[in-house]
Amino acid sequence: PEVAKQSKTDVFIIGAGPAGLMAAWWMARCGINARIIDKRGTKVINGHADGLRPRTDELFASMGGGIQEKIEAESYMFENLKNWVRGPDGKLTRIHTQLLCRNYVDDLPSPFLPTTISQGRIERFIIDGIDEISQGKFQVERGVMADTFTYDASLENDPNGYPIELTLRTLSDSEANPKPAPGAFGGRDVVAKGNMPRDELTHPTAPKEAPGTVEVVKARYLIGCDGGHSWLRRQLDYKTEGSTTDSVWGTMDIIPMTDFPDIFFPGFIKTDLGTLMIIPRERNLTRIYVPFSDEANGERFDRSSITLENIVAKAKKFFAPYTLDFKVCEWWTVYQVGQRVSESNQHPGNRIFLAGDAVHMHSPKVGLGMNTSMQDGYNVGWKIAMVAAGAIRDENAFLSTYAGERYPVAKQLVKFDRTLFGDHGKVDPENFRKNHVEFRDFSDGFKLEYPESVLVSQSTSKQTAATGLTVGESFKHHRVLAHATSQLCWTTKLFQSDGRFRIVLMAGDVSEPDQMARVKKLCDQLESEKKDASGKETSLLHNRYPYRFTFGQHPTQDKTLSTGQHPSITFLHEKPRTSMISLLAIHSAVKSTESLTVFDFPAALYGPFDAGYHGYDYTRILVDEAVHYDRYCDGRAYDRWGIDRTRGAVVVVRPDMHVGWVGDLEDSDALVSYFATILK
Ligand code: FAD
Repeated sequence: PEVAKQSKTDVFIIGAGPAGLMAAWWMARCGINARIIDKRGTKVINGHADGLRPRTDELFASMGGGIQEKIEAESYMFENLKNWVRGPDGKLTRIHTQLLCRNYVDDLPSPFLPTTISQGRIERFIIDGIDEISQGKFQVERGVMADTFTYDASLENDPNGYPIELTLRTLSDSEANPKPAPGAFGGRDVVAKGNMPRDELTHPTAPKEAPGTVEVVKARYLIGCDGGHSWLRRQLDYKTEGSTTDSVWGTMDIIPMTDFPDIFFPGFIKTDLGTLMIIPRERNLTRIYVPFSDEANGERFDRSSITLENIVAKAKKFFAPYTLDFKVCEWWTVYQVGQRVSESNQHPGNRIFLAGDAVHMHSPKVGLGMNTSMQDGYNVGWKIAMVAAGAIRDENAFLSTYAGERYPVAKQLVKFDRTLFGDHGKVDPENFRKNHVEFRDFSDGFKLEYPESVLVSQSTSKQTAATGLTVGESFKHHRVLAHATSQLCWTTKLFQSDGRFRIVLMAGDVSEPDQMARVKKLCDQLESEKKDASGKETSLLHNRYPYRFTFGQHPTQDKTLSTGQHPSITFLHEKPRTSMISLLAIHSAVKSTESLTVFDFPAALYGPFDAGYHGYDYTRILVDEAVHYDRYCDGRAYDRWGIDRTRGAVVVVRPDMHVGWVGDLEDSDALVSYFATILK
């Protein structure tokens, strides 16, 4: 076909599911020249994934823009798992109740609980977030399909090279919005719309170009977020390891009408027909997973033979003698579980990446596909955004941490799925319950220890300074009190996803003059860190210009600014540039908020903000102190983090909230070299 258009972009994303949208959010946040396409005419509206894990919520909280708050307002919170069995007398009996959410008093792993909400709503909130931060400039191009791919490896080491070439084709309306055959797999039939939010009742977005239009686009970086049947994975000729199981499930999202007492608790009903699974949802919906594995008989199974009526009829048998009926079914489908991992998630030249289901496929019932996909998209998104913005010293070493960090997660995810559901993808409630407890740190997203790399420096860290904050793991969030304003704050909010690294100065007992002197000495060193080529002192920190580590051109070459002039920065890609590092302090001197004011601390901790600032910054000094009116702000953060309350510690939190480095207040050389290895 005739090529109507030729173009270039820094970053190209194929697929606007959960993984692609998270990566796209970073491009919008950092003002990167990027595009995202999806062959479908609309985002997901109902059905698909519905389980959210605490770690994903932490990412949303850090992304800001109200994404996490909107999700919390609409979602269903998981509390107790309730399991039932049918005994020999034919009666259904509840055999146990298990607390699913953590004990938030003794062990505080996260501010968030596991919840359920439709994938479509999550996609809606991320899309709205992208729209807001890019002021409508960055949009998903829908009804556009990636058709051909070529790669010129000779350009991959050229920083200005565009080694990737794609042909894009604009689809017709019927291609972009295919009508599923009645009763066919992925029916997505809305039997009735229930009480769907108004902003979901949208119409497909018409593509910008006429159907059949062909465009050739060249890109510096490519992220394939194109799902389980990934087109890009096939272009790269990556094989998948694993197999399709003989586990077949019918799934329906209904507003139930039943006298079964636990329909709004997650749980299982085990009978001689197999095990049915109940997942309560927002808006009075319940998802019911009905097993059809017996029908599969170990063979590849013709899913199109199962209709919604079959699913309902079989579900009724599980629930009997209780009744089950509904008037609203928002979505239903039939699927056969596959457990597979792609042989790689990153091309050797560090220009092409795969994220989400394109890398890992497994049972939807494990409730992790969407979460892991979003976490992949977030991880690869910030890294490529930083490289595209020109902030990174050794781009290959930096980008290869994506595979180093996320590929083991993909493998572990499929292993976890096999442990929970066996090689046949079936559910044994007792096995599920046992392993759910054993693996819950992993499944909630906390127990992810990224290996040593330019971003994870165990070798230069002093782990003994903060034994509870393992270098490589995600930061353990806690609620703390702002020293000057008495506002309570989860650390998720302190670590905004803005591309900056954070030096968290665990300042210890600053009511002791000796300890305050240590704090001041470190701050002085960080503020006047090094002389630049013209002999001016540069600063590591974002509140003191000129910065040592910044984007693109070195600030001293920027003739629009003179030394000491404080630039007003509104966005990372806008001139003048910003520092990549921000400093905040959490001290342990309880009851000191009256005796010490912010002005007793070094100016690096309250000096002007760079974002449209007109006064002092009262938000970056916090205290680990209990308040009687909030049980999460319990003054035990230092204990959980394993930090000495008198002497404190220094912790580097990466832009994705993983711990990158830990040391003492005297270890500023190691601290600075951590950044000097990564940043330009
Ligand atoms: P997808 O969401 O599949 O998105 C890929 C996108 O790429 C699609 O929009 C597609 O149109 C587009 N695309 C593909 N090829 C091209 C091309 N050549 N050109 C342009 N666009 C292209 N996960 C959970 O975490 N929790 C759950 O509770 C859960 N429950 C589930 C229940 C069911 C019934 C199902 C089916 C899935 C469930 N999942 C769950 C899994 C979850 O839906 C997926 O893991 C998640 O959607 C993967 O996100 P993704 O962005 O990687 O891929």
